[in-house]
Amino acid sequence: MSSENHLVVNTATAGQLNEFVINWHITEACNYNCTYCFAKWGKPNELHRSLGAIEKLLDKLANYFIHGNPEIKRILGYQSVRLNFAGGEPMMLGSAFPTALVMAKQKGFKTSIVTNGSYLLRGRFQLPPNTLDMVGISFDSQQHPVRRELGRIDRKGNSFNIDELKLAVQHLSHTQKGLKTKINTVVNALNWEEDFSPLISSLSLDKWKVLQLMPTGRTDFLISDEQFTSFVERHLGKGLPISAESNNTMTESYLMIDPNGRFYQNSKGMSDYSYSERITDVGVETALNQISFNCHRFMSRYYAENSSNICGEVLA
Ligand code: SF4
Repeated sequence: MSSENHLVVNTATAGQLNEFVINWHITEACNYNCTYCFAKWGKPNELHRSLGAIEKLLDKLANYFIHGNPEIKRILGYQSVRLNFAGGEPMMLGSAFPTALVMAKQKGFKTSIVTNGSYLLRGRFQLPPNTLDMVGISFDSQQHPVRRELGRIDRKGNSFNIDELKLAVQHLSHTQKGLKTKINTVVNALNWEEDFSPLISSLSLDKWKVLQLMPTGRTDFLISDEQFTSFVERHLGKGLPISAESNNTMTESYLMIDPNGRFYQNSKGMSDYSYSERITDVGVETALNQISFNCHRFMSRYYAENSSNICGEVLA
């Protein structure tokens, strides 16, 4: 996940959302150990372990958000629903992940994944063709020592690098028709002076999302607003698809599902989560009520965020 971490809503048109996004943190497991990761749920009883439970969850979400006519749909006026698989690292799950992806597609969702990229080329499985509408790959530094210092490295010392990133984007663009590609970069004390311009322009991305490191991990990697602004300004005016999100705009939670299959939100800060019961047990509407979900607040938060910066969405 991650700082990869999380959000949720997308493009708006004159008072309506085109796309409503549900962020499912399908697993806590990850092969990396980023210093700033807050995808921690304390070894949850992860719902994906049962394919029947995955299908039940997807059915409930599809019946409510896609085929139903709930208040949230009437108010937000969205045209489609995207299920974003986040983690942890969703591609660590082996066959359960592509199965969930195919099921989600069959049930009418648009699909996306936020990944650290390490399994895109070296995974035990290939993503089924044409099952993914969007991919978000986390990439924080072009320098191996910096990625290692940030914890973006596995136990064997492997760290998803520039060449792998280029190959993975190229490969996915061939196998996933109409795929939108996005890179997420968390700007911190170790990379804020890096110039990503040549790399990003070479990738033909739909979006390069840059996020200021949130104050949840090691404080020595935090940067000032001025440093973040300087990073952003260095990359402006070069035709890059940059979308910047500072600390000030990364405050509220969105519609998120944890690995247990519960809605959760963090309306008062990262450490103050409230959780519903399992959606598969109580249904979508009851679960939403249990986290006091309010679509008016959701909508106003969406517009506040998107008027103050270029966009908003998850991290890996
Ligand atoms: S890659 Fe994402 S989920 Fe994994 S440790 Fe890093 S931030 Fe956390």
